[in-house]
Amino acid sequence: MEKHPYARHTIEGDKKTKWICGCFQTVDDYFKFCDKHIETLKKAINAQIDELDMTIVVKE
Ligand SMILES: [Zn+2]
Repeated sequence: MEKHPYARHTIEGDKKTKWICGCFQTVDDYFKFCDKHIETLKKAINAQIDELDMTIVVKE
């Protein structure tokens, strides 16, 4: 599988909500999670992927 250098290191827009652990949400509803919560979120998203009905995988 080819690797694509996708990385969003900078967040544009003002922060709407910031949590003490480091997670935050911007005014345009982009969520950035801290190292601790990103792993939990990834697991949760993978577990829920069928329910999200994301049935079409984009092949690049
Ligand atoms: Zn967090």
